[in-house]
Amino acid sequence: MRYDNIIEAIGHTPLVRLNRIVRGFKGQYWAKCDHLNPGGSVKDRIGIAMVEDAERKGLLKPGGTIVEGTSGNTGMGLALVAVMRGYKCIFTMADKQSKEKRDLLKAMGADVIVCPTAVEHEDPRSYHSVAEKLAREIPNAYHPDQYSNMSNPEIHFRTTGPEIWEDSEGRITHFVCGVGTGGTITGVGRYLKSKNPKVRIIGADPAGSVLTEYFRTGKLGKGEPYKVEGIGQDYLPATLDFGTIDDMITVSDKDSFLWTRRLARNEGIFAGGSVGTAIGAMLAVAAGCTDDDFVVVLIPDSGSRYLSKVYNNEWMRENRYLEISLPLTAGEIVQSKSESGSRPALIAVAPSDSVSAALEKMQSYDFSQLPVFEEGRPAGAIYEDVILNLALEGKDLKKLVVREAMSEGFPVVHSSSAVDHIMNCITRDCPAVFVDLGNYKYEILTKYDLLHAIAHRLEQPA
Ligand code: PMP
Repeated sequence: MRYDNIIEAIGHTPLVRLNRIVRGFKGQYWAKCDHLNPGGSVKDRIGIAMVEDAERKGLLKPGGTIVEGTSGNTGMGLALVAVMRGYKCIFTMADKQSKEKRDLLKAMGADVIVCPTAVEHEDPRSYHSVAEKLAREIPNAYHPDQYSNMSNPEIHFRTTGPEIWEDSEGRITHFVCGVGTGGTITGVGRYLKSKNPKVRIIGADPAGSVLTEYFRTGKLGKGEPYKVEGIGQDYLPATLDFGTIDDMITVSDKDSFLWTRRLARNEGIFAGGSVGTAIGAMLAVAAGCTDDDFVVVLIPDSGSRYLSKVYNNEWMRENRYLEISLPLTAGEIVQSKSESGSRPALIAVAPSDSVSAALEKMQSYDFSQLPVFEEGRPAGAIYEDVILNLALEGKDLKKLVVREAMSEGFPVVHSSSAVDHIMNCITRDCPAVFVDLGNYKYEILTKYDLLHAIAHRLEQPA
């Protein structure tokens, strides 16, 4: 493909199948990869649309200044057009947005003004109000205002919607998308419903935003701060048409960030934190899907904008997003062991086996001890150093049976036992416990298994 300039390379992003994170759910799941736009986000589409609309209407004249309040991505979309067409850019941003986004806009030649996040939309210090004021005061300035500019939903009606419809060959049944200005969901939703009114349009909303409650009850609440960037609101933008939306699903900051990381590590899709909100909502939808369902989730922006946040373990820990949700039980650890494929069959010996056979088994598996099972139940354990002492005493290991050499067995815990109880049982002298899984089934757990399960749990959404 060849283009005359970078603006022409916007759109026609790929639809990529999701494989691992949707394992076990019926239906098929696809990611509309708008993070692969040249400016790294879905907002490239509205940057050019709003500028061309303003040029047509005579609102933006040669040499003019574009002033916009942005969470960063719209700024990047506008900056690309500004570079190509010779406009200046001033962006206002809330201080919660990542430093990477600020630096990116500066790299594109824009001026960036950082405003407080913790103020109301109408407060004169908010990034919306500051953008409005600057646009009034600066000569030849134009304020696109993505929150009220109808070229925002319209460009998604004209491009994103048709691309998804065509690439799904008209089979799409659900579209899931984070809601910020609502431009993407409104434009794509309107288009898809114009092709097939049965397509369900689902909005993903961060916990703390007022949108879901308003959608459900018609009441506009106060809202709470949240960390996910680019989506959710504390007011109703004009660009958001709830009439096109069938459901809104709320997802916590923690789940959003954990799903974002899992998307990168399981599907190779490196996206920003708002994608996790959409994935969390998509999986809630997936629980009710059938084999005929064709679900598309929108990937809004690239993960490179969030290396200091979502993808930074220290930041995740500071914000308590990487904490295990206890209680973690013996049964759950056994399950995590089997899911990770690190669960070999239980290796054991019988009391009537010869000690030399037990020693051979230990050596072939590189174990320093083996459990002894009698009639399907744990009866004791046999240790390498005990066998060594017997050999030094001149005993014939071939004639000696395990019953004569075995020591007390590992403690048996129930599958509902908590991790701290298991830890108390595991000592220097007792390296493992048995988990009684019922029906004469037992699993052995070592300190290594506990650590492995805890590490695995750190990456799981609550
Ligand atoms: N995710 C991110 C990271 C965004 O920056 C935005 C746009 N603010 C969105 C999702 C939501 O898109 P829209 O404004 O079209 O609702």
